[in-house]
Formats: sequence, structure tokens, C-alpha cells
Amino acid sequence: MIKTASIISTGDELTSGRTTDTNSNWLADRLSAEGVEVVSVITVGDDSERISWAWQAAAADVVISTGGLGPTADDLTTETVARFTGRKLLLDEEQADAIRGFFDRVGRSMPDNNLKQAMFPEGAVPLPNQRGTAPGYRFDLEGGAVGVVLPGVPHEMKAMFEEQVLPWLRGQADADRRFVSRTFQTFGMSESALDEALLGAIDPARGRLAFRASFPDLSVRVSVAGQPEAAERELDELSKEVHRRLGDAVYAEGDTTMQQEVGQLLSRRGLTLVTAESCTGGLISRRLTDVAGCSDYYTGGIVAYSQSVKEKVLGVSGVTLAMYGEVSEETVAEMALGARRLSGADLAVAVSGIAGPGGGSDDKPVGTVCIGMAGDLFSEGAFSGGEFSAGEDIYLEGGACARTYKLGGNREWIRVLSSQLALDWTRRYLLGLEPWRSGFGVRGGG
Ligand code: ATP
Ligand code: MG
Repeated sequence: MIKTASIISTGDELTSGRTTDTNSNWLADRLSAEGVEVVSVITVGDDSERISWAWQAAAADVVISTGGLGPTADDLTTETVARFTGRKLLLDEEQADAIRGFFDRVGRSMPDNNLKQAMFPEGAVPLPNQRGTAPGYRFDLEGGAVGVVLPGVPHEMKAMFEEQVLPWLRGQADADRRFVSRTFQTFGMSESALDEALLGAIDPARGRLAFRASFPDLSVRVSVAGQPEAAERELDELSKEVHRRLGDAVYAEGDTTMQQEVGQLLSRRGLTLVTAESCTGGLISRRLTDVAGCSDYYTGGIVAYSQSVKEKVLGVSGVTLAMYGEVSEETVAEMALGARRLSGADLAVAVSGIAGPGGGSDDKPVGTVCIGMAGDLFSEGAFSGGEFSAGEDIYLEGGACARTYKLGGNREWIRVLSSQLALDWTRRYLLGLEPWRSGFGVRGGG
């Protein structure tokens, strides 16, 4: 039964900071989703002594190493592992043929030093690599632990982990014990607010709760271990509790992004969306079009960065611009109305704001961002509007709605958060929720 794991990443490019160690993150996430606790992550350079030290320090049921399997002299993982475990290095003819085959397929002749990649510590089980030259392997460590060695190239490593390591790992688990988990994507609550809202929701004896922030996304993962059916039932129950406590802050389950969720909602309702962007410069459009199949519901967007494009293309009135300015609820409402008129889309979302670092004023400091929306529900009076408890007004007239946010952070942060708000407004509208309730600090009761 494998309960704990240690990860070793190898490479000078990692310790020098030239490459970010994404392999460890990815592996740690995949392992914890399987209920394996990652007890250490060690990064070492291409140095035999350091690699040995890492293997020595990595005490866990399974030790997974990535990198350093290349054909060149600075790739030292295998010879170090052999020395560390006191094994001979042997050539595996089958893997040597596979490497020759790889070179044949890409139409190159194999350099001699690539044969080094078919050398394994005696007794190791090779893990073939269909996408590159370096096969990995699995071998026994002292005290019943197991070592797994994988190449460093992320897409090769990931495929080998999914196709070969994971099935083996699952095979090691008890048949009557299963680990199940579910992830909830949230927006609009800070990590501490989430923590507070979920306080006591999960009995530590029954399950676990883990938060993950990768801006602008914040996710909560609930996991349960136990007898398979009981664990599934337990997870369903805990999931209901998470939904009950977090309410509409949860926008999706699983690995779904906000733009995917918005796309699914638009598709399901057979509606189309258009965007009008100023300070986000096309970021909302970019995110929406990251989703394959978006042409079914996304008509396109207009980047109206200058006043003249807001006026001449989107038809924002000169009077509005002069009276309220480019960053105002009146202007974004007219931007949304204009984009909707031009495209004939069912729904329009618009953003105008001051992302900084310059351009702020006392009245409208950097971080002032207005989100606007135009759609039938507004003209039909589906939303009553009104005031927030904070005393902020929202703009709701003529088939459009808008609200001003004061966002913190640098230019990048403000732009990303603005795009997230615009997408969340869209999601809320499609769910029949008041769009302007989107954002931080406006949720009643948590
Ligand atoms: P090969 O040399 O056969 O491609 P390898 O196992 O020797 O395989 P490395 O040379 O260590 O792999 O790394 C290959 C590439 O993968 C490098 O470009 C490196 O930047 C990238 N890489 C290696 N380790 C990591 C890691 N932990 N996270 C992200 N990228 C990595
Ligand atoms: Mg390397």
C-alpha cells in the first residue's frame, strides 16, 4: 500500500531558475488526487553527489524522479541511481530497439550515445517512452519502497505517468479501499473567507479539504478514503455541504475553467455573446476563444481602447463620454449596448477601467473598473437592481446594467481580475442571478 511519495526533480536549468519546475507541481497534484501524500519535493542540479543525497533524503513509499535521463554526459540520474542502490547497469535490447525505432520514425540516424538511454540498473522494470527517446524505469528500494524514474520533458513525463505509473500505483492499493476526490472551482470569495465558510463542514476523520489558488482561480478539493461505495456516498454528501455553504461562489466542479463554464451555459441556452473591451485589451476574447467550439456561441469582440473607437465604432455618445468619462457605468453600458446592436448577439459584456500604473485620479484611482452588460433580461425587468449594503449603487437602465469596482493589484492583476468579473457576470446572467453581485466583498453571509 503506497501512502507517501517523494519527488525529485533534476536539472541545472531548474536550480538556476531558468526553467520553472512544473513537473513536481503536476506530479504532486496527481498523487494527492490518488490519496498519496507527498512528503517532500527536492530539486537538485545535474550533480552526481547531489542526486545521491536527494535519493537518500527522499524517504517515502514511492520516490519519483524526473529529468537527467538524456544521452549527454550531464544527464546523471541512471548512473547515480545504480551506484546509490549498488546495482550494475545493463543494456536492455528491447528498449535499445525502441530508441532506434524512434530515430527511424523521425528520419534521423541514432547517435551512439543514445544507447546510454537503454541502460538500466539491474532488476529495473523499463517504462517505455512513446513520445521521446528516454525510457523510464521502476525499481525496488530498500525497505519495500519503490523508485520510479521518468524523463524531464513535461509532456513525455506526464504521458508516462498517466499510462504506466498510475495503473501500477492503483494496483498497489487495497481493493476494498478507495480514494475519491472532487474539486470545486470558486470565484468571489477569498481563501480565508472560503476557509471560514467551510469551517467544520468536514470531519477530519471522514475527509480532507484542500485549497488551491492559481489566480484568478481558487479551487477547493474534498477527498475521502474508505470502502469504495461508502467513500462515494460520503463524497456526495460532503459535496452537497460544500455547495450549501459556498452557494453561487462555486462556478463549476472538476477542472472546468470559468470560460468553459460560460461556454457551456451559453450553448445549453442557445444564446450568443459579444464582448466590448477597453482595459482588458482582448483578454476576455482570448479566454473565450481558448475553448474549442466557441464559435457556436461567441460572435466576437471589439477592443475599444481609445475614446474615438468607443464613440465611432461602438456608438457611445459624445455627451456620455464628456459628462461621465471613458471609465464610467454610463460608458460601459453604452459600450455593451453598442456591441450588441452591431453583432446582433443575445448578450453583451463590456469592460472599461484604469489598469495603471498611470492614468489614475483622486476620483478614479488605478483599479477603478466598470463592467457593463446588455441583454433582454434587463429590459424585461427581471432584475430589480437596488443598492448594496455597502451603499454602492448599480446602474440599471435602458436594457443595460453596470457597476464600478475598485480593484487592487498591479496592471496584470487588474486586467485578469476584470476579465474574470466579466465572465462571471455572464455566468450569473445565464443562471438568472444578479450579475452585479459578482466580485469580492459583496456576498451576503458568505
Ligand atoms: P531528454 O534529455 O532525453 O530530453 P531528460 O530526462 O534528460 O530527457 P532533461 O534534459 O532533464 O530531461 O529535461 C528536458 C527538458 O525538459 C528541458 O528542456 C527542461 O527544461 C524540461 N524539464 C526538465 N525537468 C523539468 C521540470 N521539473 N519541470 C519543467 N520542465 C522540466
Ligand atoms: Mg537535464
